[in-house]
Amino acid sequence: MLRDVIIIGSGCAGNTAAIYTARANLKPLVIAGHEPGGQLSLTTLVENFPGFPEGIDGPALVENIKKQAEHFGAEYLHGTVVEANLSKRPFRLKVDNEWHEARTLIIASGASARWLNLPNEQKLIGHGVSSCATCDGFFYRGKQIMVIGGGDTAMEEANFLTRFGEKVALVHRRDAFRASKIMLERVLNNPKIELLTNTVVDDVYDASQNLVTKVKLRNVKTGETWERSVDGFFVAIGHIPNTAPFVGQIELDPDGYVISKGGARTSVTGVFQAGDVQDRTYRQAITASGAGCMAAIEAERFLEAEGH
Ligand SMILES: Cc1cc2nc3c(=O)[nH]c(=O)nc-3n(C[C@H](O)[C@H](O)[C@H](O)COP(=O)(O)OP(=O)(O)OC[C@H]3O[C@@H](n4cnc5c(N)ncnc54)[C@H](O)[C@@H]3O)c2cc1C
Repeated sequence: MLRDVIIIGSGCAGNTAAIYTARANLKPLVIAGHEPGGQLSLTTLVENFPGFPEGIDGPALVENIKKQAEHFGAEYLHGTVVEANLSKRPFRLKVDNEWHEARTLIIASGASARWLNLPNEQKLIGHGVSSCATCDGFFYRGKQIMVIGGGDTAMEEANFLTRFGEKVALVHRRDAFRASKIMLERVLNNPKIELLTNTVVDDVYDASQNLVTKVKLRNVKTGETWERSVDGFFVAIGHIPNTAPFVGQIELDPDGYVISKGGARTSVTGVFQAGDVQDRTYRQAITASGAGCMAAIEAERFLEAEGH
């Protein structure tokens, strides 16, 4: 069946695009992907999405957006886009083993945070382990915070988190930093930040309490290990945009993020993007939702102009 719109991804961006395209009577199909609900499904309390004065659990928020889209006729398909042919219209997508066709596409496949793959890390995401200082810093007022990483993002997050934490320990596996000189200097001049170089984290605890309480650290030069009390554990080692099926099909930057050609447009006419898959700056639920709205309006106007 040839669709007017297929939306790739069921996070805030994809689900919001689904509300708008469904209300425009375009009967969108949303491919949910390996992580239905997207990154918000990993977290607990979200306090910065407008409209919820007491905050709302991440999974509930994204499920509500999905229900709102379904209410207007959006359809969801469990599956992952593994291959795409965007060289001519209609566009073709292989979802697991089946090909689907659409006049327009909205790529809202997000960018997954890189994790350290520690034995207990995944169990504690949303319970002290985070990849987003803007999102979760506020929960650690007066607490002990640890940031992992050696690039600009880690420096920025460590500096930002000193607004909340009593102390911020910045852990980096080498003694040289990828971060720019100016960002590193800000860290070095911040009295609330302690640098732990040549150090890696072996694990984070305590999954049995469902709460981060401490980490096990190891000096890579001496082999010495020790434990340290921590309340908030922020992993800032980058993101991986989920664009593998589109490599060679649309313009991506060297890290794999979709390049915007103005608003929600991409290098391929009729293919639009929304959310973290294009955004390496803001990475918030509200910006992803806003981008989903933009992509949906673009898709609708494109179809209208083409007489559909
Ligand atoms: C732990 C954590 C806490 C956070 N807390 C907050 C917060 O408090 N406030 C806030 O505003 N933001 C928060 N964020 C950030 C927020 O979750 C993201 O900015 C937002 O989810 C981005 O939405 P998105 O739709 O662009 O992408 P994502 O949420 O990443 O969704 C991407 C979707 O694409 C799908 N997908 C990927 N590849 C494919 C494929 N090949 N085929 C089909 N589907 C595919 C996935 O299954 C997923 O459904 C947090 C993030 C994390 C990780």
